[in-house]
Amino acid sequence: ATTPKPLIAGNWKMNGVTSGLTALRTIAEGVSKHTDKLDGLICLPATMLERGTRLCNGTSLLLGGQDCHFEQSGAHTGDISADMLKDAGASHVILGHSERRADHDETNTDVLKKSLAAYETGISAIICVGETRQEREEGRAMEIVSTQLEGSMSKDANSQNTIIAYEPVWAIGTGLVPSNHDIEDMHAHIRQKLSERYGVEGENMRILYGGSLKPSNAAEILRTKNVNGGLIGGASLKSDDFLAICEAVP
Ligand code: PEP
Repeated sequence: ATTPKPLIAGNWKMNGVTSGLTALRTIAEGVSKHTDKLDGLICLPATMLERGTRLCNGTSLLLGGQDCHFEQSGAHTGDISADMLKDAGASHVILGHSERRADHDETNTDVLKKSLAAYETGISAIICVGETRQEREEGRAMEIVSTQLEGSMSKDANSQNTIIAYEPVWAIGTGLVPSNHDIEDMHAHIRQKLSERYGVEGENMRILYGGSLKPSNAAEILRTKNVNGGLIGGASLKSDDFLAICEAVP
């Protein structure tokens, strides 16, 4: 197995209008100075992808979407397909974020089907997993994450087309983060599951940590074994914060 190059990924969620392009450009220029040690990605709202693609042309920043439908086209009002994301310049798509699992009742099977649409169109899936506070308190965090991994990942997943993001639901947007020890344990658990199922591909697959990652805790978290980068919500909206997290990559 080879240690994957860290990926620092931003998730802008339902934020970003034309005025946000200034921050995006600053992020693109900043990330381009660190290509030796990391890949940088911002998952934009779909309405900004095409403009973002034009603006970031010539930089090394990658762009992605935040969800896709499991079909590539058809009678699905309001949905966006993987083909459409690719056409607008996306190389990645976040799938199964806890906000979509909660707000849109997305199941593991839905996430798996969406991942197949992403693979078919040639973009990589960032598949999100993570336990709720109650599940952690009940000592079920690892069991929950195992079930999510088994159900949300296709047999076609490999280290190129798939990235796992471990995002404890209770840490998203709350300022709370698991102890370093707990992050290390969960990432080791995920690594074990991935290598059992996918062999060397599973050993090489990136596992990101997400949940209240910010400049002040990034160095410690990103140094943790089996943490191959981060998925960043709130702190990815401010170019200074996002780039400070990039700086913290060991
Ligand atoms: C996220 O939603 O993917 C996330 C990690 O959010 P935040 O960084 O704001 O906790």
